[in-house]
Order: sequence, then structure tokens, then C-alpha cells
Amino acid sequence: MAPHATPGLLSPDEALRARALRVIPGGMWGHMNVARLRPGYPQFFRSARGCRLFDVAGTEYIDMMCGYGPIVLGYGDPDVEAAAAEQRSHGDLMTGPAECQVELAELVVETIPHADWVLFAKNGTDAMTACVTIARAGTRRRKVLVAKGSYHGAAPWCTPSLAGVTAEDRAHILHYDYNDVASLERAADEAGRDLAAVLVTAFRHDVRRHQELPTTVFAQAVRRICDMADAAMVLDDVRAGFRLHIGGSWEPYGVRPDLCGWSKAIANGHPLAAVTGNDRFRDAAQQVYVTGSFWCSAVPMAAAVATVNKLRATGAIATMETMGQRLREGLEQQARAHDLPLRQTGPVQMPMIMFDDDPDFLLGNRFVQEALWRGVYMHPWHNMFLSAAHQPADIDRVLEATDAALKQVAELSDRRQSAKEAQ
Ligand code: PMP
Repeated sequence: MAPHATPGLLSPDEALRARALRVIPGGMWGHMNVARLRPGYPQFFRSARGCRLFDVAGTEYIDMMCGYGPIVLGYGDPDVEAAAAEQRSHGDLMTGPAECQVELAELVVETIPHADWVLFAKNGTDAMTACVTIARAGTRRRKVLVAKGSYHGAAPWCTPSLAGVTAEDRAHILHYDYNDVASLERAADEAGRDLAAVLVTAFRHDVRRHQELPTTVFAQAVRRICDMADAAMVLDDVRAGFRLHIGGSWEPYGVRPDLCGWSKAIANGHPLAAVTGNDRFRDAAQQVYVTGSFWCSAVPMAAAVATVNKLRATGAIATMETMGQRLREGLEQQARAHDLPLRQTGPVQMPMIMFDDDPDFLLGNRFVQEALWRGVYMHPWHNMFLSAAHQPADIDRVLEATDAALKQVAELSDRRQSAKEAQ
């Protein structure tokens, strides 16, 4: 039981969950259902500011999830919210887009080197589905290569759950292993002259496993295979976009996609997604029919203009890297001191923190639960996210909590070891 819970009385969060269960299947859909995590995780929140979250009981947490990625400058960033409020005073959803749609498109095309054009949508799933449709329209082919385990969204062609999905929905999806050039070549051979696109995430950020950066050899092979087959190279930058590199996550590898999907961080929490592409796919992007009732809302676009401008002007990505490095080094020292096999993977500003030899997540779950009780919201098996609002003092507070949490994990690990030896 969480330290502050009162036996016999429902907490505000429990009361909301009980109400939700009656009117929402399972009480909560998708990845934000905290039934997947250990008891103590609040399902509902009252407010958020900077890097702080407040649950419905008013308990404060330093948030290491940033809303699963969209919050890149901090909750309620004053510049983004001022731009959003200014646009809202004129109009948000109207019978057509506002001027800021063109302003944002110009800014995106100027900021992202591979982009000759951009379309806007609402979610990463919209963006990635549009990328696939545009690639097929442009190449007049059907096969799409996807890395095993990579997440591209919640539509039938890509959702990780097969419930309600037909074989026909997946008929032209072939798989390869991330970072494995030979498996990519095999999949491309199998697709043959029907290869429309290769989809690839910015790095390997699948849930429940250590993260992996792409090797330069792999990144270049994706580009080469697409060029040789005249297929579209599609980068899924929905999760990592605007956190690793302002021009797109594969800029440091010198590899540019033909099409790219964006969402999450583009508008610091306002609902927006984008597809960027080069001139080769401009006609195809014009031919396909993509739209949505809310896709032209002006407030998120004004928020995106402010977000992208601020990311560019303030060095926010470098700030996130510095803070991520501070966290990584602090945790490394703590893990050594507690003699625990803590493994930190992926870019420092999008850390995955797990334990080796912990297949049932016994240690991982305990670690984040102990941190939660000490006011730090972490995740045991999804990558976390830093924002530019995380300051050195916040990271130091996180490290205080993790040190105490690791002490508990070390005791648990010792008990598990003794139990194993006794068997
Ligand atoms: N691609 C990647 C890499 C993602 O991480 C996500 C969302 N987690 C998506 C696509 C789908 O985005 P959305 O949930 O906004 O539809």
C-alpha cells in the first residue's frame, strides 16, 4: 500500500477509477492504463507545470515521462501558451486553416533539411499511415518493410495487438530486424519489384527491452536499399523528433528520408502531427486523400510555431542532453555503490532504465515504485523523456529518490538471491 493511503476510504484516484470502470472499457484504453504498472501509480492528474505533475489528490511528482513525449519545453511553457492564447483569441477550428498553417509549413520546411513540403494531422498514427499511403501512391507498389517490434501506431496495419485485425490488413507488411542489414536485404528481396517503402524508427525504442541506437552502417543500408529499389525511405520520428536533432533524428548519420512522420513534441503538448517529404513524393502527397475534422485547428499550429522557434533559439536539445547526462552519470554511480546491474540505454534525453537478469521486472517494478513514493514518476519498461524544463536541482531531486529506491532494490535483490541459493 502507498504510504499515504487510508485503509477503508477510496482515494480521489480510486474513486475516479471506479467511476471510469463503469463507463470506459477497462477504465482506460491503451498505453496510459496504469493497471499495467504496480499499485500506487495515479491514473488521473489535476495539473502540471514545468517538469512537475500533480495527481488528483494533490501529490507532486517530478515527471520523467513528459506525457509520453509531447512535452519538450515543459508543461505550460509561457511562450508556447502565449502564442496559443493569441491564436485562440482570433479563432481555432474554423471552416478552413488560419494563416499560421502556412507560417508553420514554411518554418518546418526551413528547419528540416529533407523537407520540401509538409502536411499536418493530429496523431503519430495518422502521420505514419499517411506516409505509407503516399509511398504506395508514389511508387505504385504495395510491400512495406517494418522492423520487428517497432511501434508505428494503433491502426490495423501496425497495431501490436492482433485483436480485430485481419490477415488482409497486414497482407503487404514484411519484417526485418532493426540494425541487421542482412535481414533488411532479405526482406527487400522478398518484396522484389513490389517494394513501396522501408519504415524505420529513429532508434530502437521498443518497450520492455534495452534501447539500441542505429549503426551508421545500418542507417546507410536503409537509404541504399531504398535507392536501389526505387522505394520510399520512411523515417518514423514520431517519438524522437525534436528531442535528438532539430533537423530530424538521422541528420547526424547523414541519412535523409524521403518521407517522415512527426507528432509528440512538435507543439509541446498541443495535438498536432506532420508528414514531411521531398519533391519526389510531392505529387503523390497531393493525390492521396488525407484529412480529419480537427486537422486544421489553428491553436496547435500556432503552438507549434512557438515550440519549433523556441527549440531553435534556446538550445533546448542541448539542455536536455546535459540534464540526461547528469541523470545517467548519477545513476551509474548509485548502481555501482549498491552493486546492482542497472542498465541505461538509448539517448540520455530518452532514457530506458532496466536491470539485467530481471525478466519478470521484479527489480524494475520495485525501483520505479519506490521512486514514485518519493515523488518521482518513472516507467519500468517504456523509455522515459526529459524536457528542457528539467533543471539541475530537479535531476538532483530525482537522484535522491533513486538512491533510496536502489537501496530497497538491493535488499530485494539480495533476498531473491538467497531464496535461489536455498532452492
Ligand atoms: N510511431 C512511434 C515511434 C511512436 O512512438 C508512436 C506513439 N507512441 C506512434 C508512431 C503513434 O503515435 P500516436 O500515438 O500519436 O498515434
